[in-house]
Amino acid sequence: MNLNIRPDVIIIQDAIINTRRDIHQHPELGFRELRTAKLVADKLKALGLEVQTEVGRTGVVGLLEGRGYGPTIALRADMDALPIQETGNPPYKSKKDGVMHACGHDGHTAMLLGTAEVLIGMKDRIHGKIKFIFQPAEEGQGGARVMIEEGVLEDVAEIYGIHLWNYQKLGTVGVRSGPILASADIINIVVKGTGGHGAAPQGTVDAVVVAAHLISAIQTIVSRNTNPLESTVVTIGKIQGGSNFNIIADKVILNGTTRAYTEANRQLIKTRLQEIVDGVAATYKAEITLKYFDGYPPTVNDAALTEKVITAAEKIVGEGAGSPFLSMGGEDFSYYAQKIPGCFFFIGSAPENVEPGSVPHHCSHFNIEEQALLVGCSVYVQLIEDLLIK
Ligand code: MN
Repeated sequence: MNLNIRPDVIIIQDAIINTRRDIHQHPELGFRELRTAKLVADKLKALGLEVQTEVGRTGVVGLLEGRGYGPTIALRADMDALPIQETGNPPYKSKKDGVMHACGHDGHTAMLLGTAEVLIGMKDRIHGKIKFIFQPAEEGQGGARVMIEEGVLEDVAEIYGIHLWNYQKLGTVGVRSGPILASADIINIVVKGTGGHGAAPQGTVDAVVVAAHLISAIQTIVSRNTNPLESTVVTIGKIQGGSNFNIIADKVILNGTTRAYTEANRQLIKTRLQEIVDGVAATYKAEITLKYFDGYPPTVNDAALTEKVITAAEKIVGEGAGSPFLSMGGEDFSYYAQKIPGCFFFIGSAPENVEPGSVPHHCSHFNIEEQALLVGCSVYVQLIEDLLIK
């Protein structure tokens, strides 16, 4: 590994790591990031930035104005934690029962604060403005959308965001032009039949048998309807139905999720689901209702911005920055990138001495390699230097 952490980041490395540990000990769920928001706002104010609080309920925005004229570039971090009981035992373990930073958002926040601290020192050479966006509620509640509604993207030319990524080792940066994360929608299906005695199926409509056919049939959306070169997922993660071994069930409930990298595939999945639901219902004389809830859209990176990230990242981690780490996970960064050119990228953060991926995100013993915070911070600073310093 040939890491080239920036000297101006090394100077404040303890502050970055301590901030991350402080936030890790005091995790807060979406739209309740009060302590975290205060910590962020206090730090930004101490640096001399213009600070707005309660943007998108608990979000914070800091503005750094350079000396010269130029575009406004936004950098975004998310601040929320997850409803998970931490089972690992780091010295900075979560002090809040049942709540934990199990996705690395503590690190995202610390990295962006570190970036602000380094960039304030370069203020006189900066041509343009940097907007630091600390958003609430990434984990499912769409904090990004609320901040956008409140105007956070007004006057912003470009936006960048980082996710720490435990599926890759320290010293890697993953990015690509085009889709990098998927849409994440929710499906809820209710199969209604007619129950009866387990020994007398005549005259019944067995909701379990109908559900079994339905589950198999909808798997053909991915295997037979979508282009195999374009990734999609349809998962039924939960089935509930029936009451006893000798009773034919009259109702089965299915819950699942769908993932796609393009709006076209997302629509195709939605349309085919309804067609298959209607077809299976007609075939087996059941009544089936499908409810489809739109989650986050696909996260799609702008080509020109992606090149800029690769150029900056290569100065920090060397050749190979930009190997695309694709995931069918979802991210509400997608909402920003729908409005203005955006680029979302990954910083490898697998803990030292373990196989990348063996400490996955959203698990109760999640932790990161903290050196990755210095990598992410260095890439952010490098990117701004490349873009706004003449
Ligand atoms: Mn996350």
